[in-house]
Amino acid sequence: MPIGVLAPEIISRIAAGEVVERPASVVKELVENALDAGATQINVESQGGGISLIRVIDNGSGIPADQVELAFHRYATSKIGTLTDLENISTLGFRGEALPSIAAVADVEILTKSEGDTVGIYLYFKNGNVMKREKRSRTRGTTITVRHLFRNFPARLKFLKSATTENGHIANLLSQYALAFPEVKFNLVIDGRLNLSTPGNGNLRDVIAEVYGVEVAQQMLELEKTEQVPSVAGLISSGSLARSSRSYLSFFVNRRWVRSGLLARAVEDAYRDTLTTGRYPIVVLNVFLAPQDIDVNVHPAKTEVKFRNSQTVYALVQKSIANALARAPLPKVKTASTSLEMAVSLWATQADKSGPLPILRVIGQLASSYIMAEGPEGLYLIDQHAAHERILFEKILVQRSQQQMEIQGLLEPVNIELSPRHEEILKTRGEFLSQFGFILEPFGMRNYLLRAVPRLMKDTDLAETVRAVLDSLITDEEPHYREKNIARSLACHGAIKAGQSLTADEMRELIRQLELTTQPQTCPHGRPTMIHLSSHQLEKEFGRTG
Ligand code: ADP
Ligand code: MG
Repeated sequence: MPIGVLAPEIISRIAAGEVVERPASVVKELVENALDAGATQINVESQGGGISLIRVIDNGSGIPADQVELAFHRYATSKIGTLTDLENISTLGFRGEALPSIAAVADVEILTKSEGDTVGIYLYFKNGNVMKREKRSRTRGTTITVRHLFRNFPARLKFLKSATTENGHIANLLSQYALAFPEVKFNLVIDGRLNLSTPGNGNLRDVIAEVYGVEVAQQMLELEKTEQVPSVAGLISSGSLARSSRSYLSFFVNRRWVRSGLLARAVEDAYRDTLTTGRYPIVVLNVFLAPQDIDVNVHPAKTEVKFRNSQTVYALVQKSIANALARAPLPKVKTASTSLEMAVSLWATQADKSGPLPILRVIGQLASSYIMAEGPEGLYLIDQHAAHERILFEKILVQRSQQQMEIQGLLEPVNIELSPRHEEILKTRGEFLSQFGFILEPFGMRNYLLRAVPRLMKDTDLAETVRAVLDSLITDEEPHYREKNIARSLACHGAIKAGQSLTADEMRELIRQLELTTQPQTCPHGRPTMIHLSSHQLEKEFGRTG
C-alpha cells in the first residue's frame, strides 16, 4: 500500500515513547525497514560507535520517488491503515515514526529506487528539513546514511556509553536479526572491520556458526517443527553446552526479536533438570502465532509483546524444548547425578577399552552397590556385582580348563524340585553340571538332592542357580559355548549382589582380584564393570576449563 499518514484515532492507540534511544535503536529501525521491504541482502556500517555514522544498504522494494518525503512525516506508514490492521500486524514496523524520529536527531541522507521508477532519488535532511533533492542512479533498494547522531542533543550524548559499548549493542542487534532471518545475507562493518557476515542461505545452523562459532553450531539440537500455528522452531543447546549468562537466549515472535520473561521462564523450566542454577542454555527460538494472538503495540521499541494466551505459549515452548532435550543423543550434565549420567554415556567407549586397570584407591561405597575409587585419571565407579561377575567368570573358566573345579560338599543336601523341562535337560546334558562341580542325586518324582557345588558358589540360592544353569544348557550351541554359558550363569549367581554393603577390605580385595582378570572393564555379559569420570571431565563440569 502507498505511504499514508495514520488517522488520529489510530495514532492515539499507538504506544507512545522514544524510538531512538541510542545508536543501536537507529540500526534496529533501519534494518527492520529493510526486512519489511523484502530485502535479501542488508549491509550495515557503523563508525564511532554509531555516533559519527550509521549506514544501512538494502536491496528491498525501495520507496517510490513521489513518496520519499512523506515517509519522513510522523505517523506516515505503508504498513497499516486501519484499526483492524493494527490488530493483525505482520510487519516489523507499523508506527510510521522511525524515519522522522531519526531525522529529528541526526543528519539523514536517503537514496532509494523502487521498481516503478527509472532512476533513483536522493534526499538530504538536516534538522528534519529537506536540504537537497536530486535524481541519482541506483539499482532497486534503499541506502540510508545517518550522521552526527544527537549532535544537537548534548544531554542524550552524555547518556551514551563508550563507543565500544555502543558497537557491542549494534553487533548484538545485527546478530539477533541474522538469527531471525537466515535467508537474508547480513554484513556488518564496524569502523572499517567486517564484524559479521552471514551466508543468507536460509540455514539457521550456518548463522549460529557465524554468531557463536562452529562448535556450538554443531552441537545445537533442532526443535521439532510443525506447520500450523501456534508453533515453535529453532535450535537449542544440549545440556553439555551452557553459558553463565542469559544473553544467549534469543526469542523471536513471528520473527520479531523480543525480550520476554515468559519465554525465558518456559526455557528455564524445560532445562530445569539439565542445568544447575547460574548456567543458561544457548537458545534460538522462533514462536509463530496468529497475528491477532499477539499485541506488539506495547512499547515504542516493539521489543515487548503481549500474548493473548500466555499459558498456551508457555506450555508449547516448555514442551517443545523438553522433547528436544529428551531426544538428544548427548547426555545431561551439571548436577552430581547427571554428571554420572554423562559418565554413564561413556560406557560404550569404556567397555571397548580393554586393558589393565590403573592403580585405584578405594574412597567408599555408594548405594551399597558401587565402589568409589580414585585413580590417576580421576574418579572410578565400580559396579560391585559386575566386577565380581568378571572375577568369578574367569576363575570358573580357568578351573574348568584345568579340570580342577573346586568343589564344596554341602553339610545339608538341598532338595531341588525340577520342572519336566529342566529334568529333560538334566538327563541329556547333565554331564556339564557335574563337570562344573554340581553333584545331584535323584530323589523321587522330579526331586533331586544337591550334595556338592562349586566352591565359588557357596553363598547363593543354590536351587535357583541349578535351574539357571539348566536354562543356559537349552541352546544347541557347541560345547565350548555351553561351557561359557554355564560359567556366565554361575558367575552371575555367585557374585555379590547390588545392595550388599562391603567393608573397606572387601572392596580393596575385590579391586585387587579385578586387576588380575584379563578384561577388567567388562562383565561377562559385555556390560561395563566401571565408569570413569576423568579429571578433565570434572574440571569441565565445574567450569574450571574452557
Ligand atoms: P514504519 O516502518 O513504521 O512504517 P518508518 O518511519 O520506519 O515507519 O518508515 C516509513 C515508511 O517508509 C515505511 O512504511 C515504508 O513504506 C518506507 N520505508 C522506510 N524504509 C524503507 C526501506 N528501507 N525500503 C522500502 N521502504 C521503506
Ligand atoms: Mg520502520
